[in-house]
Amino acid sequence: MITKQKREEFSSYLEDTSNLKGTASSLYLPQERNEIISMIREWGEKKIPYTISSGRTGTTGGCVPLAGVVISLENLKKIIDIDKEKRTVSLEAGVSLEELEREANKFNLTLRASPTESLAFVGGAISTCASGVRGFGYGSIRNYIKECEVVLPTADTFTLKRGGITSKKRVFDFEQKSKKYQFSLPAYTMPRVKSQAGYFVADNIDLIDLFCGAEGTLGIVTSCTLMLQQIPPHAFDGLVFFKNENDALEFVAEIRALTKNTSLGATSLEFFDVRSLEMLKEKFSFIPSSATAAVYFEQEAKDQKRYNTLLEQWAQLIEKNNASLDESIIAETPKEREKVFDFRHTLPQMINEFLRQHNQIKAATDIAVPWEHFREMYTFYKGKGGESKIHFVNFGHIGESHLHFNFLPKNEEQGLLARKYLTLFCQKATSLGGTVSAEHGIGKIKKPYLKIMYTEKDINEMMLLKKYFDPHCLLGLDNIFGKDILLKTG
Ligand SMILES: Cc1cc2nc3c(=O)[nH]c(=O)nc-3n(C[C@H](O)[C@H](O)[C@H](O)COP(=O)(O)OP(=O)(O)OC[C@H]3O[C@@H](n4cnc5c(N)ncnc54)[C@H](O)[C@@H]3O)c2cc1C
Repeated sequence: MITKQKREEFSSYLEDTSNLKGTASSLYLPQERNEIISMIREWGEKKIPYTISSGRTGTTGGCVPLAGVVISLENLKKIIDIDKEKRTVSLEAGVSLEELEREANKFNLTLRASPTESLAFVGGAISTCASGVRGFGYGSIRNYIKECEVVLPTADTFTLKRGGITSKKRVFDFEQKSKKYQFSLPAYTMPRVKSQAGYFVADNIDLIDLFCGAEGTLGIVTSCTLMLQQIPPHAFDGLVFFKNENDALEFVAEIRALTKNTSLGATSLEFFDVRSLEMLKEKFSFIPSSATAAVYFEQEAKDQKRYNTLLEQWAQLIEKNNASLDESIIAETPKEREKVFDFRHTLPQMINEFLRQHNQIKAATDIAVPWEHFREMYTFYKGKGGESKIHFVNFGHIGESHLHFNFLPKNEEQGLLARKYLTLFCQKATSLGGTVSAEHGIGKIKKPYLKIMYTEKDINEMMLLKKYFDPHCLLGLDNIFGKDILLKTG
């Protein structure tokens, strides 16, 4: 096992894109699962906390260690098998999504639910239950996990196959590798929107789904088998600019309705407000000066005939909703599609760069609310954002009623004020039946928001579950729950 003990050799492992800075005594780089198991045993005996680090593209400080050691899975990077017939890939957790895509593409396969950031690892994506720019059409990575290997903080291991171990209502009672397990899931009901706030629970769930999204607090995902999709034979993207923001929101409502009744079937539906466009103008000269909002979409088609029909249908929808086809970009060639995708991907990177320059921690929402309340939430964002006098941008997965409202604080004082407004946003979203985190998770920096969404009893039940798997609370310390309160529970 490779180990690094000089801080300057592993300082980049002490942060993620949230800009939270951590500390650790050493970095471990296991090359195989057995090394992880023996280290966990040793850390368990010595009571040393350990944090799992993958691609470090997380936005909530989840992989940032605050004590003990950090363990990077970057050397677990074998793609074990790609089965073209079954459309599956078996791979180790440290494979990046970029690498997975490159290899899968050789077999005309792809993971459509990949998160936007391709530097993320498969294990990281599973542990944050990531859903990307195509979440609208494909949902999250959860839907595609067939099998999963997990190392527990007790150094025991699970080999899970979907459908193999399920809860009866909220109770799991099973045997794995000659050991009996019996525990209850928390009783809370999850919101009616995609949610990555706290543990995924429901009646009769698969054990795989408990580990998916557990943010490195219940076990370490070391390998998995994922279902892949065939690369769509035909697809195009669009970037539609609107002079009037309301037209953009009406356009989205119409596309959502058409997708729901299956006469269209967009796989991606993303929104950019006027401030996002102002920021992006620095890099993309094609943004019309009169634009006050933009919508990005992706559309797949099974054959050329359907492709042509869909192109025509989108053109009509664009014009009907008062956007100019001449000013819009309909990307059909790989080069054009890359340009449009680059536009989508650049904004979060620019925000992260801004925060780094101003030495500020990420101050953004990851809220989703039921669609019928989207307009109310959006109006609230605009009102409070303006009132704060801090610069902000609002953009993201509008198809899933899930925007990322990002404050851009320039100093500590603005950072503090931004956090007060984020609390207000989370209270509002919760009152509308939404979630405080739809995809990025709670990590370390969003813990206060979990308390807005769930009662003390709910959080207590989550902590009991955590302690069932990790009695000494060594894995992913300070993720989801503060260590002080966690240690007192049970
Ligand atoms: C520009 C940009 C765009 C993004 N867009 C999206 C998006 O559209 N959708 C989305 O969902 N996310 C998005 N993200 C967030 C991020 O890419 C995802 O959360 C990603 O899945 C994290 O993976 P990672 O490998 O970087 O994990 P890390 O950041 O290294 O870790 C994330 C968490 O998972 C835990 N963990 C990591 N690996 C394991 C493992 N093998 N076993 C157990 N626990 C583990 C860590 O301890 C930590 O708590 C974006 C990020 C950036 C920077």
